[in-house]
Order: sequence, then structure tokens, then C-alpha cells
Amino acid sequence: MKLTVAGFWSGFPAANEATSGYLLESAGSRLLIDCGSAVVSQIQNYVSIQDLDAVILSHYHFDHAADIGPLQYANLITGLLQEKSKTLPIYGHPYDEEEFNKLTYKKVTEGIAYDPNQELLIGPFTIRFLKTIHPVECFAMSITDGTHKLVYTADSSYQDAFIPFSEGADLLISECSFYEGQDGTGPGHLTSIEAGTVAQRAGVKKLLLSHLPHFGNHSDLKIQAESVYVGQVSLAKSGFTWTGA
Ligand code: ZN
Repeated sequence: MKLTVAGFWSGFPAANEATSGYLLESAGSRLLIDCGSAVVSQIQNYVSIQDLDAVILSHYHFDHAADIGPLQYANLITGLLQEKSKTLPIYGHPYDEEEFNKLTYKKVTEGIAYDPNQELLIGPFTIRFLKTIHPVECFAMSITDGTHKLVYTADSSYQDAFIPFSEGADLLISECSFYEGQDGTGPGHLTSIEAGTVAQRAGVKKLLLSHLPHFGNHSDLKIQAESVYVGQVSLAKSGFTWTGA
């Protein structure tokens, strides 16, 4: 299983970078997890858009879904230029009908509703969901290819349910929108200490802090998470890769 970070900013993309977007590859299959602002530009550093096999969205906030429109145009235009048509499945939750309906566009993308109470199979990936605590419906994901387990918190304030959900993960991608001493419960986000606490209590092998804020020094987030988690902590950046080791 190979993860590549295409974007990691919260809210809006910093210059020449992107908000949430994670490319997951296994057994020749390519899944894009979230498609935030500027992800369509950044993802092309790692894969051609035509080679994506599926997209899955945690929720419909702009920093996770803004580039669905550009992705549809990219598929439409490259499909016309290359004279081959391929329908890209985009998996999203069905609890915001207006946003869900936008996932289907001409014949280039098809919105597919996932049921968060059921396991979802996409190519080699088996995905389970956990409802998060966020101002809108949002779902964390536990993804395995049979060899490795990756957990992505999506956007959420702290909940104990993350611990059994993340247990034994080889990699936890935790959102980390706030620093130690701040309170993320209003906007529905995690602090560095909370991300580290989930990692420690779930016994995950590695922690990747992502969805990073536009203030403070990100290196402090790492130091703070390391104060409560004994494993390896990394800060997300464009092009960061993890290969299961
Ligand atoms: Zn959000």
C-alpha cells in the first residue's frame, strides 16, 4: 500500500499547494481520498488524472471536495482529446443530497453513495467508516488492502470512538488543525495533543499530522504530539509518501 500526500492544508491552499487530497495505491489500483482545492493540479505530479480508478470523499466542505468540478472537466476534456470514455466513480455519503448529486456529471463521473454502516469494497481496498464530530456529516475511514491498515480521521473534534477504530493501524492520518491548549470542539477539529492521544491509545505504528493550520509553527505540532505518543510522528507535506514500512 502506498500513500502519497497531494495536499494537506486546512481551509484553503497555500501558494502552489493544495488542501486535503491523498492518493492511495495498491495492486495497481489508484484511489484518491478527498479532492480539496488545488488537488487536481497537485495530483498530476504523481498520477495522470485518467489513471485514477476511484475517488472517495469524507464530506463536502471545500477543503475536501472543491476540486470535484475541475476533476470532472479534466476527465471530460482528456477523454475527448484521447477519444476514450471512462466513467470515474466518486463515492460520497448521501446525507447532503445537493452536494451528492453534483458527483455525477455527464458520463465522465458517477456519484455512488456509500452506506457508512457497511463495509465498502473498492478494488483491493476494504473501507469501514466512523461518523465524526463536525458541523456537517463527515466520515473517518479505515482502509485495508489485506496487508496494511490505514486510518484517516477526516475532520473531527476528539471522540473516544477513534481509539478502537484506529487500533492496530500501520498509519494514522490525523487531522491536526490546532495547537496544544486550543479548543477545537466548536469548529469540529483536533489539536496536536488529541491527535497524539488517539495514536498512543490505539497503538498505531505511525502518525501523520495533516490538515495543518495557516498559523503557528507546524514543527510545534509534531513536538506536542510526540509528548503523548511514543511512535514516529511526521508532518504532512506535498509529495510525502508512505509505503507500509
Ligand atoms: Zn470540514
